[in-house]
Amino acid sequence: MSITPLMPVYPRSGVRPVRGEHCHLIDEDGTRYLDFASGIAVNLLGHSHAGLISAIQQQAATLMHVSNLYGSPQGERLAQRLVDLTFADTVFFTNSGAEAVECAIKTARSYHQHAGNDDRYELITFRNAFHGRTMATISASNQDKMHKGFMPLLAGFKYAEFDDLESAKALMGPNTAGFLVEPIQGEGGIRPASDDFLRGLRQLADENDLMLVFDEVQCGVARTGRLYAYEHYGIEPDILASAKGIGGGFPLGACLATEKAARGMVFGSHGSTYGGNPLAMAAGEAVLDAVATDEFLAEVREKGERLRSRLEQFIGNYADLFESVRGKGLMLGLRMHGESRPFYVHLRDNHQLLTVAAGDNTLRVLPPLVAGDAEFDEFFDRLSAGAADYRPPSAA
Ligand SMILES: *Cc1c(COP(=O)(O)O)cnc(C)c1O
Repeated sequence: MSITPLMPVYPRSGVRPVRGEHCHLIDEDGTRYLDFASGIAVNLLGHSHAGLISAIQQQAATLMHVSNLYGSPQGERLAQRLVDLTFADTVFFTNSGAEAVECAIKTARSYHQHAGNDDRYELITFRNAFHGRTMATISASNQDKMHKGFMPLLAGFKYAEFDDLESAKALMGPNTAGFLVEPIQGEGGIRPASDDFLRGLRQLADENDLMLVFDEVQCGVARTGRLYAYEHYGIEPDILASAKGIGGGFPLGACLATEKAARGMVFGSHGSTYGGNPLAMAAGEAVLDAVATDEFLAEVREKGERLRSRLEQFIGNYADLFESVRGKGLMLGLRMHGESRPFYVHLRDNHQLLTVAAGDNTLRVLPPLVAGDAEFDEFFDRLSAGAADYRPPSAA
C-alpha cells in the first residue's frame, strides 16, 4: 500500500501548523510563520480572535445542528443582516465556496427555466477563472489542468477573455442565461476587472434579460476594504457567491440573490443538510460583528493603501524580480518577471513567511484584515531578506 491515508491530491509542504496566534502560525516543531496567506483569504480575523472563538464555543454548547426541516432563527438573523448590507433580497447558506457557486449557477438557470425559457442555460465565464472543484464549477473554468481525468464536463459554459467586453459579447446567443465572473480574479493572479468591463456586463445583462453573477468567494467580505468588491464598481450583480472569509475559518458559504433573480428557487428546488446550521450562523455573525462596520472597512482600505505603497517602493529595489503591484485593499498581488511559485517556496522555507502563489506569475499577499503596522514591518523584514538571497531558477 503506497497511497497515503489523506488522499494525495495536494502537494503538501513541510509546514505543519498546530496552533495559531493572531497573524502567526506555529508549526508542530515550534517554528513560527508570519501568515500573510490567511488560509487563502479565509482567516480575516487572524487565528485566535476572542469574539469568534467565544461565539462558536457558546453556540456549540447551546445548539450545533438541526435540520433545515425546522425554522431557523439563527439563519434568519444572519440572512437579514446580509440582505440589509448588500444588493440582495434573499440568501441560501452553504458549507463552501464551490457550493455557493453551484447555487448561483442553479439560480441563474432557474431564473429562465422557471419562466419556461428552457433554452437559456448557458453561462459565459472567463479565462483563468477559478470557481471551485465540483463538476459544475470546474466546467465553469477553462483550465485544462482541473478537467483532466474528470471528463465529460457539464454542458452550458462558454469561456470569454477576462476584462474584454467584446469577447463576452461575441459569445452571446439564444442559449445565454448570463455571465459568471470574479470582480477580482484570485487564483488567476489578483487581476481586478476594469470599471468599463463590469459596467458593460451589467448593461448587456439589463438589455438582454440575463443574470449577472459575481463570484466573490475570494474578494468578498471586507477583503478589498468594502464588504463586497462590487461596491467599488458602482453596479450590483443579480446573484453573488460568497464564502472563504465569511466564516472566519468556520466552513460557511452563501449565495445571495435579488428577489427577481431567485424567482425559480422555490420549495423543494434546492437544499443542503448542513447549510446554515446554528454553529455556522454563529461564526458568520461574529465575523460580521467584527468587519461590517464603516470604521473597520475604512481601516482595511487605509492599511491596503499603506501596504501597497510600501510594496511599490520595495519592488523598485528589485526591478529584476518584480514587475508590478496590483489588487484592492488587502487583496494584493506582486507580479513577477518569472514564475511566482519558487519565490513563494523560498519565502516559506527560508524566511518563515507564508504567502500564496497564483497564476500569471503573481504572488498573492493576503494578510489577516486585523494585521497592523507591527505585522507589516515584520512582513517587509522577511520579504526583503527573501528577495536579497533569492536565486531564481535559471530559464534553462
Ligand atoms: C476558493 C474559491 C472558490 C471555491 O471555494 P471552496 O470553498 O474551495 O469550494 C470559488 N471561487 C473562488 C473565486 C475562489 O477563490
